[in-house]
Parts: sequence; C-alpha cells; structure tokens
Amino acid sequence: MDIVFSSGHGQKIRGASGYLDEVDEARKVVEAVAELWRKSGVGVTTFHDNTSTSQSQNLNTITNFHNSKKRDLDVSCHFNAYQTTSKPMGCEVLYVSQSELASEVSAAIAGAGKWPNRGGKKRTDLAFLNNTNEPAILLEVCFVDSSSDADSYRKLFDVEGFRVIVE
Ligand SMILES: [Zn+2]
Repeated sequence: MDIVFSSGHGQKIRGASGYLDEVDEARKVVEAVAELWRKSGVGVTTFHDNTSTSQSQNLNTITNFHNSKKRDLDVSCHFNAYQTTSKPMGCEVLYVSQSELASEVSAAIAGAGKWPNRGGKKRTDLAFLNNTNEPAILLEVCFVDSSSDADSYRKLFDVEGFRVIVE
C-alpha cells in the first residue's frame, strides 16, 4: 500500500490558529504518522507546501503533488476551528467516497486524543477531496480554538491511533 500524506494550507498561506497553530501541528502530525506507517511497511510520501502565496495556488500545488505520485490513498491533515471555547470539540474526518474509512479513522483519532468523535462527514465542496484522483480522506484532528482539545493534544495525543488507516 502506498499513501501520499500532506499537511493542509502552507508555510505562506496559514490555516487556523488559536491554542494551536494548524499548519505547524499538521506538519508535525504528518511526519510522525508517516514514520509509524513506514514501520508498518507502507510506502508513504509526505508533502508540505512551502511556496504558494494564494489560496488557489496552494490547493493546486497540493493536489498536483498527490496526483503526480503512484499511490492507493490520499490523506490530508488539518486542524479544525470554530470559536474559542474550553469545551472538548474533537475529531472529524471528511470524505466524498470513503464513508467507512472516514468513520473508522475518526474514531481512532478521537481515541488517540481522548476527545469527542464527531465521525465521518461527507463534504463535496473541498478541492482536496474533489481533485485528487485516488480515494481520499481529510483529517480534522481536533479544534485549535478549544483549550480542552489543545491540552489533550499536548498531553495525550498518540500517533499510534493512526495505525488503523494502514491495517
Ligand atoms: Zn485547514
């Protein structure tokens, strides 16, 4: 199995920020999880966009990278944002065609972070999911503006939870 795994947004096109910075944390998660998957014998190529200076360029750069590789699955790592809160908010995994995988992965990440499992969510309006040519899921690991999620992420989060994607 081969996976291309990228972080959302880019070095110059920043994502959400609150108690956690989305771009910084997504990059860390991608690299840590890629290491875990490689140890399980999966071929993983990671990508972080360091060059794009506009939203459309960023989305094109990421999807073009994915589509330039031979792989079985496309995965994108984001962190969510809604409004500043101390309540736990949790994980959701977005998909167009991968309903079952998205549910499974969302439950696993929620378990790894000990935060709520919001589950798989069908989204037909996202460039990453629409423009990558292989089965794709987009992870929203937890909420950057929830102090509870951020605390759990810093203290408890274990990339082992991501093993489920390659099992
Ligand atoms: Zn994002």
